[in-house]
Amino acid sequence: MEVVNNNKQFAIIGLGRFGSYVAKNLYDMGYDVLAIDKNMQKVEDFSYEVTHVVQADSTDEESLRELGILNFDVVVVAIGEDIEANIMTTLQLKEIGVKYIVAMARNPLQIKVLTKIGADRVVAPERDMAQRVAFNLASTNVMDYIELSKEFSIAEITVPRAFINKTLVESDMRAKYNINVVAIKRGDKVIISPRPDEKLHQNDIVVVVGENDNINELESLD
Ligand code: ATP
Repeated sequence: MEVVNNNKQFAIIGLGRFGSYVAKNLYDMGYDVLAIDKNMQKVEDFSYEVTHVVQADSTDEESLRELGILNFDVVVVAIGEDIEANIMTTLQLKEIGVKYIVAMARNPLQIKVLTKIGADRVVAPERDMAQRVAFNLASTNVMDYIELSKEFSIAEITVPRAFINKTLVESDMRAKYNINVVAIKRGDKVIISPRPDEKLHQNDIVVVVGENDNINELESLD
């Protein structure tokens, strides 16, 4: 049977803070979520939060197979403290042939190891959050940003004063800064792919995509 997108099934291994937030959020979004932890107390505490919760040791290949781990579209390894268990679990999942493995890392070496053994995506929640907070604190106009690569980002910027009451064309953002406006947030409203003749208002937040240097230049405009 082909799995359609909104029937995507997720398994989350490890119910620390990160794992339980990911599991709860996915479940609240309407997805089927299996949560796995070796600690029985954690399993009991979590039993009403997601579709299924089971107690198992994820470093044991047999247990993973019995849980039908291969049927899941995405498996998240959210074991933080026990680095060995984190790596062993990722390795077992890879050996079994799980389609998409997301592994959590706490430090750069762990990111390297998990990538080398074949995790499809490595997340480092503490590093990423720290980066985001630092960026937000350091810049006056940037509300939020997502790094797409080393050079490119998407950023939310309060509209520079010089652009208020100008249309996007008049602001010259594309020609002058090589920046594209992908959305404008105006109060509760979001204008996606705004037209070139859309006028920027005071208090608008523009969502832009472009090179980091150009975004920095734009956000430091008064
Ligand atoms: P966070 O920063 O997300 O809170 P944490 O430090 O709380 O991370 P850990 O303490 O490592 O994360 O907890 C992750 C969970 O993973 C724990 O509940 C632990 O019982 C579980 N866990 C650890 N090893 C295994 C394993 N081999 N199989 C299944 N679950 C495991």
